[in-house]
Amino acid sequence: EPRTFRVRSAPILDDMHNRMGVLVCFDDITLMERKREALRCMMSELQQSRDELTVRNQELQILATRDPLTSCLNRRTFFELFDKHWNHAWRSDTPLSCAMLDIDHFKSINDHHGHQVGDEVLRAVATTLQESVPTQHIVCRYGGEEFCILMPAVDIQDAERVGEEVRQSVSQIHLHGLNVTASVGVSSRSLSAIDPQALIDQADKCLYVAKRSGRNQV
Ligand code: GH3
Ligand code: MG
Ligand code: MG
Repeated sequence: EPRTFRVRSAPILDDMHNRMGVLVCFDDITLMERKREALRCMMSELQQSRDELTVRNQELQILATRDPLTSCLNRRTFFELFDKHWNHAWRSDTPLSCAMLDIDHFKSINDHHGHQVGDEVLRAVATTLQESVPTQHIVCRYGGEEFCILMPAVDIQDAERVGEEVRQSVSQIHLHGLNVTASVGVSSRSLSAIDPQALIDQADKCLYVAKRSGRNQV
């Protein structure tokens, strides 16, 4: 079995400083080296499980905050963020808007093409929303085929413009030969809502006006 030694050497000199020989010491440090190696292994395993824990925590964070089908924020997390933005908007007297979007005749997509295609449409709409709004906007899957977009520091005119852009982007989704459209309602803090839910309710009422007026509109 191989052993590990630490070797030290020193010259042996006579009175005239002539070299007479060499003194060599061998310290057997096999045990110490084995322990050091074991420690190295333990440290590396520890690091590995720490990395795995970080990945698991990130996965848990996603599971806890996002809707699994669309990866949009879930309602609970959305309302937490909404409250923060609402309070900030109140304190700083800045605008805050939200849009409710509902896919048109979605039930008939399910009925005629199956739930799997319906799910694909939901994912495509979610991706379109996330890609077509500025990064500081927050997209939530509010319900089945309903999405809510929170727009910090955006007034009613700009919110309407965002709503229109989003509506157009959704109408450009062509999946399995389907023409997907959505109706949108928009509201803003300047229209006197007393809390986040009231702001959403206002946008929801506008959404239903858009539905009644023929759908695929803001
Ligand atoms: P409208 O234009 O008035 O909004 O009509 P609609 O058909 O879109 O609305 P309705 O409320 O009648 O139907 C919504 C459908 O969405 C019913 C429900 O089965 C379906 N749905 C809800 N969640 C999901 C989902 O996660 N996946 C799929 N495939 N369908 C879903
Ligand atoms: Mg709906
Ligand atoms: Mg609908």
